[in-house]
Amino acid sequence: MKTHSERPESNLFYQSRQRRPMLDRAEGIYLYDRDGNAYLDGSSGAMVSNIGHSNPNVLAAMKRQMDKATFGYRLHFENEPAELLATKTASYMPDGMDRVFFVSGGSEAVESCIKLARQYALATGQEKRWKVISRTPSYHGATMGALALTGMNSMTDPFEPMLRMMPKIPAPTCYLDRDNLTLEQRGTRYADILEDRIEQEGPESVLAFIVEPIGGASTGALVPPDTYLPRIREICDKYGILLIYDEVMTGAGRTGKFLGGDHWPTARPDIMALSKGFAAGYAPLGAMVAHRRLVEPVLDSGGFVHGYTYAGNPLACAAGLAVLAEVERQDLVSRAEVMGAKLKAELTGLMDRYPFIGDVRGRGMLLAFELVADRETMEPLPKEMNAFTELVEEAYRRKLIIYARRTRGGVIGDHFLVCPPLIIDQDQVGELMEKLTGALDAFADKAGLERNP
Ligand code: PMP
Repeated sequence: MKTHSERPESNLFYQSRQRRPMLDRAEGIYLYDRDGNAYLDGSSGAMVSNIGHSNPNVLAAMKRQMDKATFGYRLHFENEPAELLATKTASYMPDGMDRVFFVSGGSEAVESCIKLARQYALATGQEKRWKVISRTPSYHGATMGALALTGMNSMTDPFEPMLRMMPKIPAPTCYLDRDNLTLEQRGTRYADILEDRIEQEGPESVLAFIVEPIGGASTGALVPPDTYLPRIREICDKYGILLIYDEVMTGAGRTGKFLGGDHWPTARPDIMALSKGFAAGYAPLGAMVAHRRLVEPVLDSGGFVHGYTYAGNPLACAAGLAVLAEVERQDLVSRAEVMGAKLKAELTGLMDRYPFIGDVRGRGMLLAFELVADRETMEPLPKEMNAFTELVEEAYRRKLIIYARRTRGGVIGDHFLVCPPLIIDQDQVGELMEKLTGALDAFADKAGLERNP
């Protein structure tokens, strides 16, 4: 059999010509290539496979649905899995957040959030409101609407002329600040920037603010101070602006609560985007969840002018239902908190050995570490060092998958997400750390970075 490097040119393409091994099968926290190599899924793909791979209960539920029907167009038929999954989803939400709209992924979920917000404004006589403020850095999706909200130049630059870019405010990167404020004060200060921006834009033109309650890939698991989101909520209320939580990555248990926003129960959103862990890789599925107060006027005033062919797909919804049943059966939300704390302690321990690890952060099993040239100043590593690709490749060589980003713009440097499936056990955490240490050693030696024995 040919190995991946010998495969002929492919008709298939993604971002680049880079080739990867051919996936053969996956089970638990491991993925296997066709040569039989096992890779530890240290990032759950892209923070997707929360319940691990090939869960037999989910596969059985999908098979049962497959034997009945895999598609029925939503304008022609309702289906039970979609109905049950909507009810189940609403059961995790704050009061009144009980209207659920299914989509096929995170970008579509975000598009749906902003379109519902706009239609709500139209239905309630606020037609001047259309601006959706977001943050830099942030990632909200690849489609043009979600991209306009995304605060990452590398993603948006090529398309700027085609986009109506939305206003951005800085994310609360408090760990980079060198002032005398307390964390709580910094949280409030960052939130207050939203108010300044609303005033600058003209409050009557601002429709919504979108935020990941805990930052994902763009910021590397950035946890805001406890004052941040409650203050954001106050500001949104003051100006009649909708608060949208992008829970695509944080939802479905990853952070040790079912929703990332559940860490700050006094700040509740009006609309929410879910995907990734929601169906945990078993089907392309996402959801927008909205407060009934928003949905009812839209439906009363002619309907929601939006929808996707695969919305509410019965097979995808059956997968989603079975995934949530597994999250509950195995108590994976608590597990994310407990095992996440252990993994975070291990990652923090790496700072003794590697002076170039500047920060370890995150909640539950949404964890990241950041590499720096100088821990005091938090100056990023030189771009030419390509740390974010080099370290990932060293990990890959050791059959460990981690997820990396370098967010351009100087705000945040090379960071690496360590986010294994929530089912990971203690021994497997040990295995992950061993592989990661090997990768960091090799990276440090190659890059000429100092490390301690
Ligand atoms: N929002 C967030 C916070 C995400 O992390 C992502 C995916 N990384 C998206 C939206 C877009 O999701 P998708 O790639 O499924 O379209």
